[in-house]
Amino acid sequence: MRVVVIGAGPGGLTLAHGLRRTGIDVAVYERDTALGRPQGVSLHLDERGASALRACLPPAHVAMLEATSGGQRGRTLNLSEVDGVLEAAEGPARPGRQVHRPLLRAVLLTGLDDVVRFGAELTRFERRPDGTVRAWFADGRTDTADVLVGADGIGSAVRRRHLPGARVVDTGRRMLMGATPVRAVAGTGLPELVGDNAAAAHLPGTTMALSVLRFTRRPEAARRQWLPALGPGAVAGLDDYVMWALAVTQERLGPASAWDTARELAADLPPALRQVVTEAWPDVTVTLRIATIPPPPAWPPSPVTLLGDAIRLAPGFGANLAMQDAHRLCAALTEAARGDLLDTIGAYESSFTADVVQASV
Ligand SMILES: Cc1cc2nc3c(=O)[nH]c(=O)nc-3n(C[C@H](O)[C@H](O)[C@H](O)COP(=O)(O)OP(=O)(O)OC[C@H]3O[C@@H](n4cnc5c(N)ncnc54)[C@H](O)[C@@H]3O)c2cc1C
Repeated sequence: MRVVVIGAGPGGLTLAHGLRRTGIDVAVYERDTALGRPQGVSLHLDERGASALRACLPPAHVAMLEATSGGQRGRTLNLSEVDGVLEAAEGPARPGRQVHRPLLRAVLLTGLDDVVRFGAELTRFERRPDGTVRAWFADGRTDTADVLVGADGIGSAVRRRHLPGARVVDTGRRMLMGATPVRAVAGTGLPELVGDNAAAAHLPGTTMALSVLRFTRRPEAARRQWLPALGPGAVAGLDDYVMWALAVTQERLGPASAWDTARELAADLPPALRQVVTEAWPDVTVTLRIATIPPPPAWPPSPVTLLGDAIRLAPGFGANLAMQDAHRLCAALTEAARGDLLDTIGAYESSFTADVVQASV
């Protein structure tokens, strides 16, 4: 069996590792260059994503990620200012760990040099009479596969062609997301107050979410021990940081950069929180658009399928679902090598449509 995956995000790369480990021929086509593009600095990885990584990745990759994740997160703390002092009250449990996103990407790409083709934008595909699928790319390349997987994110070209009835709906909500070195705000006491938990402060006009990524082991040392094949640039100079997000609406955003808007918004925040924003790394502050994909009408299984953001959006845990999909699809395709391809793809797709329904209630 040959599988072509469109998109080298967390979902597509997790799938590629899983398929390769089971001996299935896989190629990943990615529109971006190998350098990628800014997508925020840190991800909250919960058990859905972590167990998919454990199942699909080689053990050394898993060990590298575990060594460099933040501490086990306990709960979401509710922060409030009482008499000028920031206090934390215990909120709901939210288990998981923070991972540094560029490092996750670099680890996922390690060992896939002969699998991932960069600078390859899918433009169209076609099902052929012999049951295979042919894909065309903007640079003139083509490829043919038994299964085509759209792991190509929110703007998925595969979804647009495969499920034209599926729509991306903009909620009008936005998140300004950034990161600030722990050392720049250590004097505020905030990193100690938050610890390994997530924290949220409900403030006039916005909500601020925070967490701290303290690398459990220094990434350089972890690379030497677990994954020397990882490019040294992926671990060079990584510093512990506070990851933060400010909720805004589309109307609040103007022509200013994400960091400038965040600083304007932070002007009225308690001093410790304001300092987190003003001391942030300007170039990693991004605006995240919050959108949804209402579940499309049921569709018959075919050799074209989707995973992750390409089919359902889940602000705050989309990468976890993408990796979980990758694990499920890998199991389905491994099974299909022994049985009926369309039945197993149909079973995989019904599992994630059930998740979509759950996520929307
Ligand atoms: C700032 C920020 C913070 C986030 N925080 C979290 C978090 O804490 N936890 C969490 O679980 N999720 C988080 N998310 C969401 C998470 O990033 C996404 O849900 C996740 O990346 C989806 O993975 P994916 O593999 O499905 O798609 P993507 O990561 O979007 O990858 C799709 C890939 O396909 C490529 N592509 C697109 N079109 C084509 C084409 N036509 N041809 C070839 N390639 C194509 C793209 O270049 C991209 O590399 C966050 C997102 C952002 C932006």
